[in-house]
Amino acid sequence: MDEKKKFRCGFAAIIGRPNVGKSTLLNRIVGQKLTITSSRPQTTRHKILGIKTSPQGQVIYVDTPGLHRAGKSAINRYMNRTAKSALADVDVVLWVIEALRWTDEDQDILAALAMTEAPVIVVINKVDKVSDKTALLPFLDELAHKGEFTEVIPLSARSGDNVERLEAAVMSYIQEGEAFFPEDQVTDRSERFLAAELLREKLMRRLGEELPYAVTVQVEEFSEQNEVLHIHAVIWVEKESQKAIVIGKGGEALKEIGRRARIDMEQAFGAKVFLKTWVRVKESWSEDERLLRQLGYDDRET
Ligand code: GDP
Ligand code: MG
Repeated sequence: MDEKKKFRCGFAAIIGRPNVGKSTLLNRIVGQKLTITSSRPQTTRHKILGIKTSPQGQVIYVDTPGLHRAGKSAINRYMNRTAKSALADVDVVLWVIEALRWTDEDQDILAALAMTEAPVIVVINKVDKVSDKTALLPFLDELAHKGEFTEVIPLSARSGDNVERLEAAVMSYIQEGEAFFPEDQVTDRSERFLAAELLREKLMRRLGEELPYAVTVQVEEFSEQNEVLHIHAVIWVEKESQKAIVIGKGGEALKEIGRRARIDMEQAFGAKVFLKTWVRVKESWSEDERLLRQLGYDDRET
């Protein structure tokens, strides 16, 4: 008699240079906003698990900070370490590139991929931006000369076009196994973490180029009282001048940022949110590994 298909469970790493759409893809696959996206590179600082459970199996996606040229500050080293460790012990690697755009950073990642024994699926994202699809043919041809890839899948993370085909391909590399996570769980990140990320996203969207790397968010309080979530967040900046930018004239900027973050939090948590924010100055936090750890950027194995 026909043997019942066994459930599968395994890991897929998502790698690619900054800004190719890795976080957008992960959010699309999981069907929920897990990680923040922005047109600014290096928005993602953390390794995030997105979990997708279907009748065939469970795939645990690891979103990596962009692999980029070794920087000298602590936070750059952290990001390169997490991206590299994400390549070890996965069943399949999704390497995201952008349609019709090939950069030196893509070239570096191609070289770094030699470190992995896992099959590599090349995801050509943002095909929605290419109106004449035949323009993709020479790009695909060049790619084929760069290396041997298990599969090449053009898609649009933004519109969702062809994402199902990618998911089916991923599943074919996942081994039989029992689910690691309950089927309704979509991330291993705490609500506290998501709250901090949502606020950071609004800060970056609103303040863009005015705030370099200099901002991070720490949620100090996350509690429920009478069905209202009380969230207290500290926004850390490096200089008094940045503090003034975050707060804005008469507190307008921070008020608007907080309002937008609160709306997203209410949607994410399905509850009314009371959000309180503070801005504090800590000089050169990105240079200080110890403080990074205090702020939750610790990547040491425990
Ligand atoms: P990451 O740095 O690789 O995680 O990239 P993000 O997911 O943060 O996306 C970077 C930018 O590209 C954002 O502005 C996204 O809205 C945009 N983007 C992502 N996927 C697509 C896509 O499929 N089509 C288009 N047109 N833009 C996209
Ligand atoms: Mg990202």
